[in-house]
Amino acid sequence: MSDCVFCKIAQGEIPSNKVYEDSQVVAFHDLDPQAPVHVLLIPKEHIASALEITPENSVVVAHIFEVAAKLAGELGLQNGFRIVNNCGKDGMQSVQHLHFHLLGKQQMGWPPF
Ligand code: C5P
Repeated sequence: MSDCVFCKIAQGEIPSNKVYEDSQVVAFHDLDPQAPVHVLLIPKEHIASALEITPENSVVVAHIFEVAAKLAGELGLQNGFRIVNNCGKDGMQSVQHLHFHLLGKQQMGWPPF
């Protein structure tokens, strides 16, 4: 999508601090980190939110979780981490391109709200 900031990051039109890239997925440090490690994982394909995951595009979601596990090892998150997807208004989604937050290097709390 031409006006989507994460599509532009995926295509290299907007700079980002990338930690991983392949043909399907990009991962980069969040501009406004909420934990000592805060990486965003996005599909290169524009999928607006978790509500738009379908049988045709869901393979990339599994791949994102594989990449997240690999990055967790590389980023020193052996003690654990949290993966978050915010969806829609109530979920506080601010960028309308599917993304997963990988957060770690601190003790998390629960519940998350
Ligand atoms: O889940 P949500 O949509 O709120 O998260 C969007 C995230 O994208 C925020 O954590 C924000 O800091 C991050 N962001 C970014 N680089 C941009 C725009 C947003 O890291 N250019």
